[in-house]
Amino acid sequence: KFIELYANHPHYKAPTGNQLHAKSWQTEAPLRMLLNNLDADVAEDPSKLVVYGGNGQAARNPEALKKIIECLLKLEDDQSLLVQSGKAVGIIPTHPQAPRVLIANSNLVPEWANWEHFNELKERGLMMYGQMTAGSWIYIGSQGILQGTYETFVACGIKHFQGDLKHKLVVTGGLGGMGGAQPLAATLAGATFLGVDKDPVRIKKRLDTRYIDKMTDSYEEARDWALDAKEKGEAISIGLVGDVGDVLEKLLADNVIPEILTDQTSAHDPINGYIPNGYTMEEADKLRAEDSKTYKAKSLKSMARHVGFMLEMQKRGSITFDYGNNLREFARQGGEANAFDFPGFVPAYIRPLFCEGKGPFRWAALSGDPEDIYTTDQALMEAFPDNHHLINWLKQARERVAFQGLPCRICWLGLGERKKAGLIFNELVRTGKVKAPIVIGRDHLDCGSVASPNRETEGMLDGSDAVSDWTLLNLMGNTSGGATWVSFHHGGGVGMGYSQHAGMVVLADGTERAEKCLERVLHIDPAMGVIRHADAGYETAQEKSDEFGLTL
Ligand code: NAD
Repeated sequence: KFIELYANHPHYKAPTGNQLHAKSWQTEAPLRMLLNNLDADVAEDPSKLVVYGGNGQAARNPEALKKIIECLLKLEDDQSLLVQSGKAVGIIPTHPQAPRVLIANSNLVPEWANWEHFNELKERGLMMYGQMTAGSWIYIGSQGILQGTYETFVACGIKHFQGDLKHKLVVTGGLGGMGGAQPLAATLAGATFLGVDKDPVRIKKRLDTRYIDKMTDSYEEARDWALDAKEKGEAISIGLVGDVGDVLEKLLADNVIPEILTDQTSAHDPINGYIPNGYTMEEADKLRAEDSKTYKAKSLKSMARHVGFMLEMQKRGSITFDYGNNLREFARQGGEANAFDFPGFVPAYIRPLFCEGKGPFRWAALSGDPEDIYTTDQALMEAFPDNHHLINWLKQARERVAFQGLPCRICWLGLGERKKAGLIFNELVRTGKVKAPIVIGRDHLDCGSVASPNRETEGMLDGSDAVSDWTLLNLMGNTSGGATWVSFHHGGGVGMGYSQHAGMVVLADGTERAEKCLERVLHIDPAMGVIRHADAGYETAQEKSDEFGLTL
């Protein structure tokens, strides 16, 4: 009956309200968040169980999903469910403060860690691609990335444009699950925005959720709208249907040089993500199915061409950065030798935040009631009255961000702040100020949870970019601390072979057990980020570590 109501393929919906379906909130929470990941308002393609990021799935196939749901419905509070690449593989006896779900997605022994081997296994039904928050059940729609993208554009504005993005044009490619946050983030930061996507359906989705203001398939129209808005200093966003390489070529020919240039096409996956230049969506689907080798070769070549135009724009004055999709690496493989001449966004703008243990703290109201999120917003504004940036964000988010699926919120908080926020939320649940428990999680893109040499750990001070011991320590720390579900993934963001990362979600259900787990996990998790950066020699992290008495 539950499956019929909430998980009738491909119509997925998280239950709402405060009635339990599982045996406790510890198992109801992952159950709701898994279904929420697949809700049509949240996921990019529920029919394929694809949540976001190219092929990032929440479960391996519909049967495996059904089994996970069955397990969660019957799981006791002294048991843990094991999930291997989106399939339930066993239940083990543990204890009430241990995680209820232990997840490992897409991991391969390094020598085999490439798309070719992964795709072979995937075809045989042995694996799935978990991306970051898709397979770890804490994707919250485009809002999840919105604040990080906003922080990045704001940081870029501070670094290069005296903190003011008015009369500045941002150009980018890719308006999918994550990339779709770019238009709203850019306009929130005050810029004019032009984004290009091959797939009109993706842009339409951003229009419907109010992430983008206007849409056209005419290059000339988009260009004129953008130039006009930029001149008037209007923070509006335009979505243009087309190939991003082609559009950059035309902009260069017209001498339209944006102040800021980046990209979020799903370049991390040259076969199932990036669409080669000159192909319609249908032609690309056909070629992919018939001859994936040729597809990949064309894809790499197109990325090289695309990055070639980006380099030319950089030469002509655009502040250009890679936005975490491994575009530079695949462009290099496609023949663009200078692909790494522009930086990644982490060393350029985000690392100083990581040194303070700051990262994308997020939470969802399991009640399904938006009022619960507004209550948490208010509580945070009262708890951090001096953090004007945070308060501004929370106010703007309430006004301009449409919820997708279960109501949720994100804001970047650091060491100390996360624990404080978590304990406040637990208190709100305990005292009945919110109608049901709240789950707290984060992206795997965080200060201490990821090793990704072309992204989060690019250019580390001590050269330890590729060391993934830290990621495993983060996972072990959060598991020991009592997160409600934990995950270890490979290949998120930048693709197979290029990253390893850990996720965690911890439940605030108003109990004493939750208080203990929150207190530990929300300290351990950001502390791992500070320790990792202090160890690499970053002074701010060393200071932060002294401030919090972390024993280094
Ligand atoms: P997605 O698959 O949902 O969307 C990608 C979009 O790119 C699609 O809409 C597709 O139509 C478009 N596209 C592909 N080739 C194109 C081309 N040649 N021209 C124009 N459009 C093209 O992926 P997503 O979730 O939006 O993620 C985008 C990328 O960003 C991924 O590589 C992902 O790993 C990365 N990412 C970055 C961050 C970050 O913090 N910077 C976070 C998560 C993901």
